[in-house]
Amino acid sequence: MQLQHNSSEFLNNKMNDMNLPHDDKTCGWYAALPPPGPARRLSGRHVADYAVIGAGFAGLAAARRLAAHEPHARILLVDAQRVAEGASGRNSGFVIDLPHKFALENPDPEFKQRLLRLNRTAIDQLQSLVRKHDIACQWSHAGKYQGAVGERGLAYLAHFEKLMSALGEPYRPVEGTELARVLGTSHYSRAVYTPGCYLMQPAALVRGLAGSLPDNVELLENSPVTRVERDGNGGYVLDGADGQIHARRLLLGTSIFTREFGYLENRLLPVMTFASWTAPLNEDQSKRFSGTFDWGLTPADHAGTTLRMTQDRRIIIRNTYRHVPKYGRSVDDGTRERIRAEHRKAFVARYPELADVPFTHTWGGVYAISRNFTNFFGQLEDGVFASACDNGVGAAWGTISGTLLADYAVGAQSSLLDDIHAVTGMPSLNPPEPFLGLGVRTRIRLAAWQSRAEL
Ligand SMILES: Cc1cc2nc3c(=O)[nH]c(=O)nc-3n(C[C@H](O)[C@H](O)[C@H](O)COP(=O)(O)OP(=O)(O)OC[C@H]3O[C@@H](n4cnc5c(N)ncnc54)[C@H](O)[C@@H]3O)c2cc1C
Repeated sequence: MQLQHNSSEFLNNKMNDMNLPHDDKTCGWYAALPPPGPARRLSGRHVADYAVIGAGFAGLAAARRLAAHEPHARILLVDAQRVAEGASGRNSGFVIDLPHKFALENPDPEFKQRLLRLNRTAIDQLQSLVRKHDIACQWSHAGKYQGAVGERGLAYLAHFEKLMSALGEPYRPVEGTELARVLGTSHYSRAVYTPGCYLMQPAALVRGLAGSLPDNVELLENSPVTRVERDGNGGYVLDGADGQIHARRLLLGTSIFTREFGYLENRLLPVMTFASWTAPLNEDQSKRFSGTFDWGLTPADHAGTTLRMTQDRRIIIRNTYRHVPKYGRSVDDGTRERIRAEHRKAFVARYPELADVPFTHTWGGVYAISRNFTNFFGQLEDGVFASACDNGVGAAWGTISGTLLADYAVGAQSSLLDDIHAVTGMPSLNPPEPFLGLGVRTRIRLAAWQSRAEL
């Protein structure tokens, strides 16, 4: 996809009041890791061949691949926060091979086969990096349960089974005592197990990926880029608070924040979702829990609750969506408390025998969706490339789109590049405010109400 920016006054008009990433410090995954070593910040003047902004799945994969293509190039990877503080380090840890809900509805079977190929390539890539660099991130080929509680969820599951059959993908319905024995709860009426999903500890994985970057990638953290402009020589100048980068080419792995650079401004929508988890269950609590460890369940009806039991015996609840026009900041403590109370209800409904087990962390994260659920991949302007709009499933997608973005930027060709061009496009335009906010909020509320049995 090629998008020409509309003018040479490129970017700067809106930089003064730009939204910068500022995620909450209450993410359990991050807190469970040892404190990171000191960060290298952007300071002084740097000249690089490539600058990559955003050290999430997309930016990390792009920088790694650029380095493989050009081992002598200087590649600067810059993030506004510490690695793993953004969405890539605070998600639910499902690395999903199957096309996401809306893509699954696509009538063209080849479209879905392309997505499967892309996601599975990403999974292979992550798995080989985890093995090669010995990244301790609870990486596990656990598959995924899609679980239904009420009638609406069951209808979605039946539909999902038909789609899996049509796609020729393996799945297995699980119900009754067999399901309860895995999940340790009889809250769910039925689930469909699909084997291709992997689970992981996202903050550990992302930190491990950053820690194993090739030598010619330099990572600069806590370094928000506050302005980008052309440098007059066909390259770009990136400004930070204490330094500047001059780069021949720029790759954006900035998800929703891509808007802040003047691109896809009226096409990406910022959505936050939230999670809470318990401490690892102790011996007594583990005895009261009648299920197994290391599994993940997503809701049959997408606005319901995601549930995970980690390898180290923590239970995670994720639900609640918010449209956040002022993205890049965490919610206030009162809102977090209210969301935690909702998570509590979902937890106790599933595990009344563990009602005394408290949550230790509640956190939120932002990602980008589009109204037509289309991902953007490609060139935004001469020398500027982006993968933006993950529609909420970005572990596999961010990895493969970042990798292929680097291929595209260096002019490589491959059948995977053909695949990604075929399944991406232009996110549709948003209506103006106040209609946009009203419409999105109404849709989120309606979805939550319709899925209330699954919450
Ligand atoms: C609670 C939650 C649960 C989720 N669960 C799952 C799941 O189980 N599986 C799944 O596949 N997906 C899940 N997602 C979505 C997934 O996390 C995202 O799709 C994915 O992280 C996108 O990766 P990315 O690299 O494109 O962007 P991000 O991870 O958002 O990375 C963008 C990076 O850019 C940096 N940045 C932005 N602006 C600037 C700037 N001006 N200067 C410097 N740096 C900047 C940010 O700090 C950030 O680190 C979940 C998301 C949330 C919030």
